Amino acid sequence: MMNFNRTTAQWQELDRDHHTHPFSDPKALGEKGTRVITKAEGSYIWDSDDNKILDGMAGLWCVNVGYGRTELIEAADRQMRQLPYYNSFFQTSNPPQIELSRLLSEVTPEGFNHFFFAGSGSEANDTNVRLVRHYWDIKGQPKKKTFISRHNAYHGSTLAATSLGGMGYMHNMGGEGGSLLPGFEHIGQPFWYLEGGDMTPEEFGLMRAQELETKILELGADSVAAFIAEPIQGAGGVIVPPATYWPEIQRICKKYDILLIADEVICGFGRTGNWFGSETMGIKPDLITMAKGLSSGYLPIAAIGMQDDFFAVLNGGGDINHGYTYSGHPVASAVAIANIHYIRDHNLVEKVREDTGPYLHAGLQHLVDSHPIVGEVRGRGLMAGIQLVKDKASRTTFSGDEDAGTVCRDHCFSNNLIMRGVGQSMIISPPLTISRIEIDELLAKAKICLDATGRDFGLM
Ligand code: PMP
Repeated sequence: MMNFNRTTAQWQELDRDHHTHPFSDPKALGEKGTRVITKAEGSYIWDSDDNKILDGMAGLWCVNVGYGRTELIEAADRQMRQLPYYNSFFQTSNPPQIELSRLLSEVTPEGFNHFFFAGSGSEANDTNVRLVRHYWDIKGQPKKKTFISRHNAYHGSTLAATSLGGMGYMHNMGGEGGSLLPGFEHIGQPFWYLEGGDMTPEEFGLMRAQELETKILELGADSVAAFIAEPIQGAGGVIVPPATYWPEIQRICKKYDILLIADEVICGFGRTGNWFGSETMGIKPDLITMAKGLSSGYLPIAAIGMQDDFFAVLNGGGDINHGYTYSGHPVASAVAIANIHYIRDHNLVEKVREDTGPYLHAGLQHLVDSHPIVGEVRGRGLMAGIQLVKDKASRTTFSGDEDAGTVCRDHCFSNNLIMRGVGQSMIISPPLTISRIEIDELLAKAKICLDATGRDFGLM
């Protein structure tokens, strides 16, 4: 029988002695001690000292329907009793994965009617790499193998997903380029606030999009398979491209016959006020990566959606030599179905678009107008990034050594609010079920933490 009855110190000691954490320095974390999360309900989580914490990050951008939803829990329970597992490799299928595929064809953008399942966003992006190369091979263009993405993009942590991403510190794990596969190229990100200099956002957006054309011409269009990007960059700092960016990217992809992959792992399932971020940003991708909000994180499941023309090629192309033991896992699929029904039945997408999203952004805009260390607020729907700055007029942010993001994140911890620090931005991505009253609490706590950070740096 599992012993859950331990003190915080005991949990921390066992965690340090036996559990290695993702994206953490084990020694430093062991010395600091982890915060042990024991339960959750709605928009709140509780730690092992019984602190009630407002989860402004929905876990890791994923608990879209909030915690404790009986509809999802009961779906898992029912499906575990009915059929806890079966594979889909050898001419077999199961009702939850079939029904989920049908349901996804209803909620994804027009023309998406075929879905391939994986266990995580990283696996789904690996799947994209393999299927896209397969696609070009079937079409008689086997040289089209290179993927282009953006610096500071995050597309996951497997080798292919790390390579698709543009995080230098991940590429260099294992020494210079130690985690970077050949065949992956990167261009600049459309982050006007930090990198736009004297250009207008529109000029800068166009310039950054045109880096794609330059890169394609440099590599040769006959060697480039696809461009991948998030509609709104999430882990990079909630970066909303200027209005000129996406139309130009779309034009370039079309001109050079390059596939466009929208990584909707964060933006999907209502986060930006539409079912998919591609709709919010007016993009027409060939492939869509989904995870996180697909099951609201209750169980691990991910998918790629394929546009009809893309699938039509695979459909005549012979074996797909790719798949995972847990592709279309029946219990995870049943939970994803319940999750999509929950989002629909509670009109969460409309609520984010018309009510809570604008309400959150109005509150955050007040901070931009009034707070000395808030330079701008970016985002759409219930996805926001607060840019911390030393000087607003010159758009001067804090240095990596000063690390105001981590300082502010620690103040949030002390004030029972989860906001994530990414570089010098604070990230907000709460459950889509968050109420206006809870948003008021989030904003009030955020202000306390920003004030404390401003005082730490002598700026207020
Ligand atoms: N793509 C994006 C845009 C993500 O934000 C993430 C995870 N944060 C991933 C892919 C990878 O997903 P996972 O962690 O489930 O592998």
